Amino acid sequence: MSDIPPEPNEADKPKSPTSPEEVTRKLEEFIKNTLGGQVLFTRVERPAERREEDETSEGGEEPEDDGEAFEFDYKPADIKAHLDRFVIRQDEAKKVLATAVCDHYHHARMLREDRAADSPGPRLEFSKQNVIIIGPTGVGKTYLVKHIAELIGVPFVKADATKFSETGYVGADVDDLVRDLVAKANGDVELAEHGIIYLDEIDKLSSGPDKLGRDVSGRGVQTALLKLMEETEVPLYAPNDIRSQMQMMFDTRKGRTGREVVNTRNILFIVSGAFGGLDKIIEKRTNRKSIGFVSSEMKAPASEHLFREVLTKDFIDYGFEAEFIGRLPVRVVCDPLSADDMFQIMKNSEGSLIRQYEREFAAYGVRAQFEDDALRVIASRAADEKTGARGLVTAWERVLRDFKFEMPSLGLPTLRIDGALVNHPETALAAARSEAASLAVELGAAHAEEIKAFGVRFEREHGFILDFDASAIAAIAARAQREGMNVEAMCAKLFKDYPFGLKLVTRSTGETRFALDGEAVADPDKFVSGLVVRACRSGGDEAGTPSAE
Ligand code: ADP
Repeated sequence: MSDIPPEPNEADKPKSPTSPEEVTRKLEEFIKNTLGGQVLFTRVERPAERREEDETSEGGEEPEDDGEAFEFDYKPADIKAHLDRFVIRQDEAKKVLATAVCDHYHHARMLREDRAADSPGPRLEFSKQNVIIIGPTGVGKTYLVKHIAELIGVPFVKADATKFSETGYVGADVDDLVRDLVAKANGDVELAEHGIIYLDEIDKLSSGPDKLGRDVSGRGVQTALLKLMEETEVPLYAPNDIRSQMQMMFDTRKGRTGREVVNTRNILFIVSGAFGGLDKIIEKRTNRKSIGFVSSEMKAPASEHLFREVLTKDFIDYGFEAEFIGRLPVRVVCDPLSADDMFQIMKNSEGSLIRQYEREFAAYGVRAQFEDDALRVIASRAADEKTGARGLVTAWERVLRDFKFEMPSLGLPTLRIDGALVNHPETALAAARSEAASLAVELGAAHAEEIKAFGVRFEREHGFILDFDASAIAAIAARAQREGMNVEAMCAKLFKDYPFGLKLVTRSTGETRFALDGEAVADPDKFVSGLVVRACRSGGDEAGTPSAE
């Protein structure tokens, strides 16, 4: 007799999981059963293309990656023209960014071709065009980068540099930026390797004399970022993230030895900050006086002009490591926005907030008509907020909040937003309300006969007389118009449950005639149940509950 156990037949064999979902489910079950509690894993997505590749690959060899998935065929002027549609001013920033982006991606392509050709001789040299944008908050820095990324079709990740100085695991977190890019690219590693990482508040990483508390972590983050900006390989599966690790285990087990690292060689880094105090350093070096970050007709140069003269040395004096700042060779200044710029943003940017408000009102059939004098008042209020174009949202919300709430119910076809409305929203809203009321009366007069005819039919069919007063007639007509129905259909809809409710009332009180006003139309169910309750109270409980007919 042999010790070898007999082969189980196919049906008895424990099935090995065939998909990550199944592995995840089984692991969840296992952990739940052994450790108790609820454990849920989410899966790290892999690109469909990659999965197909893996499914068909026999030997599990790493496929040759030349990043061919990403094509780039733009000229700087194309990118600037695209930005001009959305971003007002910042012309210099648009040009410099457009050029840097084109240089970056064309170089990346040439390097790929060079590597693919495998020609003898020295390799192409390429120093990356990472960018620093200097500028106050809300002037379009992020907006520029976001639109560039959208146009050229690369993933884009934004984070505040301060986030990293506050954590102990500096390096690991910085690597997360790269993994975030992969997630933004739906798991397409090649595309992520051509993405853009945008770090705001980079000035907070400096270790100047007034930033003692941050010295160590700030410098630590600079070093970690330095590696990313240069060229490094970031693990695709985060070493301290169980979900990532499970996905890796699964992929390895299945013989899928696809990409496990993301190379940062072709990732473009753009960093920005307001760099308060840097102007003083430049001022000292150049022996000139500035007047802060505001445009002015005065003689002393505004900070934005001084910033245009910034040298690497100034950044080092500001508290940056020379190596770090050296990896950011392209420097751009974004100007503060004046009230007139705010006006242009509302009037001419394709992404204007005004278009958004117009769409919001249009959803309720209201045509919002914004007049220039209103835009001027808001532009100047927004400029006073000193938060750049972000101030526009604040200023408009204050004015439009009540209109956004009430207009959908008033049934007015248009709302004219002019200087008077912006300066006295309460008065304008009261006027809109009374306009809506008289419009309803007019409409009611036009439809009074139809409504009365409904009353006659109702009496014939159910034996109840409905007396509509002027406010009820106006309300029915207005509501019919608002909901795009004819008056007859509106009446049928509003009063469909009345026969049942009124029957209860009649049993209690013997009444068959009912007066209806605007409130009865606004909430017919509430009105009729009010009648029933009152009838029951006055007539005892004798009404009972009739059987539905
Ligand atoms: P930051 O400079 O702080 O990065 P953002 O670019 O995020 O500011 O700007 C906030 C919002 O303000 C943008 O989403 C955009 O709607 C608007 N905005 C800011 N600057 C401009 C500009 N120059 N042109 C058009 N819109 C702008």
